[in-house]
Amino acid sequence: MFKQTKKVKKVAAGAAAPAKKGAAVKRVYYFGPGKTEGRADMKDLLGGKGANLADMTTAGLPVPAGFTITTDTCGDYNDAGQKLPKGLMDEVRANIAKVEKATGKKFGDSRNPLLLAARSGAKFSMPGMMDTVLNIGLNDAAVDGLAKLSGNERFAYDSYRRLINMFGDTVMGVDHHHFEHELSAVKAERGVELDTDLDTDGLKEVVERYKKVYKDHVGSDFPTDGLQQLEAAIEAVFKSWMGDRAIRYRELNDIRGIRGTAVNVQAMVFGNMGDDSATGVAFTRDPSTGENVFYGEFLVNAQGEDVVAGIRTPLDCKTEMAKWSTKSWKELLNVKKLLEARYRDVQDFEFTIEKGKLYMLQTRNGKRTAQAAVRIAVEMVKEKLITKEEGILRVEPSSLDQLLHPTFDPKADKNVIATGLPASPGAAVGKIAFTAEEAEQRVAAGEKIILVRRETEPADIGGMHVSEGILTSTGGMTSHAAVVARGMGTPCVAGAGMVHIDANAKTLKIGGKTYGPNDWISLDGGKSPAGEVYEGQVPTVEASLSGAFAQIMKWADEFRTLKVRTNADTPHDAEVARNFGAEGIGLTRTEHMFFDPERIHNMREMILASDSEGRIKALVKLLPYQREDFVGIFKAMKGLPVTIRLLDPPLHEFLPHNEKDQAELAKSLGLSLEQVKNRVQQLHEANPMLGHRGDRLAVTYPEILMMQVRAIIEAAVECKKAGVKVLPEIMIPLAGTKKELDYLKKYTVETAEAVFKETKTRVEYLYGTMIEVPRAAVTADELAETAQFFSFGTNDLTQMTFGYSRDDAGVFLPDYIKKEILERDPFQSLDVGGVGKLVSMAVKLGRGVNGELKCGICGEHGGDPKSVEFCHEVGLNYVSCSPFRVPIARLAAAHAAIKSSQNGKAKAKKR
Ligand code: PEP
Ligand code: MG
Repeated sequence: MFKQTKKVKKVAAGAAAPAKKGAAVKRVYYFGPGKTEGRADMKDLLGGKGANLADMTTAGLPVPAGFTITTDTCGDYNDAGQKLPKGLMDEVRANIAKVEKATGKKFGDSRNPLLLAARSGAKFSMPGMMDTVLNIGLNDAAVDGLAKLSGNERFAYDSYRRLINMFGDTVMGVDHHHFEHELSAVKAERGVELDTDLDTDGLKEVVERYKKVYKDHVGSDFPTDGLQQLEAAIEAVFKSWMGDRAIRYRELNDIRGIRGTAVNVQAMVFGNMGDDSATGVAFTRDPSTGENVFYGEFLVNAQGEDVVAGIRTPLDCKTEMAKWSTKSWKELLNVKKLLEARYRDVQDFEFTIEKGKLYMLQTRNGKRTAQAAVRIAVEMVKEKLITKEEGILRVEPSSLDQLLHPTFDPKADKNVIATGLPASPGAAVGKIAFTAEEAEQRVAAGEKIILVRRETEPADIGGMHVSEGILTSTGGMTSHAAVVARGMGTPCVAGAGMVHIDANAKTLKIGGKTYGPNDWISLDGGKSPAGEVYEGQVPTVEASLSGAFAQIMKWADEFRTLKVRTNADTPHDAEVARNFGAEGIGLTRTEHMFFDPERIHNMREMILASDSEGRIKALVKLLPYQREDFVGIFKAMKGLPVTIRLLDPPLHEFLPHNEKDQAELAKSLGLSLEQVKNRVQQLHEANPMLGHRGDRLAVTYPEILMMQVRAIIEAAVECKKAGVKVLPEIMIPLAGTKKELDYLKKYTVETAEAVFKETKTRVEYLYGTMIEVPRAAVTADELAETAQFFSFGTNDLTQMTFGYSRDDAGVFLPDYIKKEILERDPFQSLDVGGVGKLVSMAVKLGRGVNGELKCGICGEHGGDPKSVEFCHEVGLNYVSCSPFRVPIARLAAAHAAIKSSQNGKAKAKKR
């Protein structure tokens, strides 16, 4: 078995020795018998594959000798207008000599030829880039040498035809199907079905035909000189770095700041040398479930590309390998152990068995599903392979989404008809409804519905609530539809611009096709990078929360210092969030409570009242509903703090906008249609987001605030009397000055005191404010004299800091991201440099006045892992997010705590 030699040395990451001034840059690093020059921590310079090949060699694993050309060389090549740096091929030749020495073969020799493989390998694995050219060095003479050497002429010609095909295709851009066409023709003429059934003569003919295909398309003969083949292959790999596919892949995966790919050149080993040879790929654990089993496939008498090409069905190593060769199977099981012990993570590796001897061609950390990531992390901690901290850091917080919602069956056929923003994750299937009202009626009648709207508004809340999913054609990640859907855990694709909705005609047009109320659609609101809409009913599978999931969350809670609350407007949402581990409510948006048919009428009556007396009359009718809501929420939260925000949206959002509904309203209130229309007109604002909303409403109509405060305090008293502990926090939205807060505090305190007197019961409560207006942030020291807590409403704070309307930014923000003017959508991930500065300043100013000031965040950023990290660093007490993001925030908070403690230790060590 293989010896495991030295442990990986701990050296500063990416520590390639810097080139001395004047000294020639080292561009090629050898690995194999003798001195291996690369190391595991040199991924920046050698790429992931190159660094690991060097490391596996050092570890005593059986790696064919070879060398890695650095990623910087690729950068230099492309910077110089696609010219190989001077001296590179000399270094390559010197390293070929080392490989010749290691293998006892000679490159370009006709009797004992050394053949080489060239593979790309960037720091991060990048599918979609040029991959591999095998068998470099073969020509008409060397093929005979290989035939004699292996005693297998058929194998030699098979290798030769593969080289011409791969070189022609990946290096010279001759479409693969031209070669495939000739191969099929020869097979047909000879009456055989499989490639493996072709005899030597057949393959010789294929070689001749391939050469002709090559010449016809390239315009010159297939190069017979091995070095020329290799040089062209190296250049092709470098060029592929700048190919459209690779650039797009980097864009989509946020891969920035790396210069290029490395090229790994390695002595060929052959899995196609006969029935005692094979090739395969494997994971050290099951990457889809995480189970600790050898998970791999192999093909006898084949080269790697056959496994990928899917021409033959590979065999399962677990059940078939031992039948084929017990020795190889034992060796592979040992490799599994060695790899995991060395890399302390699941490995995805490639191997070849040549005449019974096992070779390792690659290893890297295996990609895995969220479910597998959680199980693997937990089991590796229990196996003492990694620490708890490492286990926690191995699970990407945002990936937990996959565990919390049903998903589409990965095996199902899907026909994508539209894409949009992945606004709220999950899989939804339903028939199309065009208004919220229609959705409610049809759901009540037993249908499953997807609500399709140009954009949603607060009045749609009921229809949104009952729908399986929501699709909008305009709006961004913090549009009403997106925010509310995330809050409800309802899948949503927002801003799907290619979707044309005509609610009157009840049609949904996409491209040339029209869909109506009886058509089924499915949507995936968590698909990255874009949410997808499918035609018809795509089958789903329920998410199962495994024991490992609970375990990782428990560990996360041991490390995090940031509390996690939830944004919840109903007892049901509060309960869901508590079950996900929420430690309180950070935001109850009370406006959503007014849309119930019974309540909306009283709300409208209040808005249409001509004086304070009329308003109070209507508000008195709303009071019991509000009180009931709060009692429900307090009870669901069982003594945890509950922040209730007073009315925020502009009043016109509650009024009907079509004439029919306005006429009905007028009739029911004994008013004329004209009076209703006039009031709607009066309330119209050019810029409602900056208009009569937030605490400005309470300044104009203190009676609204008084009704809400009364409902909160009465509910708290009722709970206290029933033995339920309550911690209400009354929150003022959109304040910008201390005087506003003082003015409204007077009404708040007076109302609360009146209730205490009436009920002869006191409850503790806090009076605080949202920080949503830049002025509030910069005068936070003044506001903190009145407010007992701050909650950063970063949706509005972002809107007002950038001056980007949150409902309209979807039109131009994608251009800003694409043109790299902004790195991320600031409505999704907190803009640390600008909005973050305001947050940090406000926390400092506020705590300067009141050291105990409780600070939290309740904008959408509270559930975004990157933003949660920022919140930890800036010293907030809690983040608050929608119920389904609570586990994500808990894990992100643990990541933040672990990382900052690691950074602190690293800094202390440096000092
Ligand atoms: C905010 O502005 O961040 C916030 C939480 O309030 P809303 O989204 O309701 O405006
Ligand atoms: Mg707000």
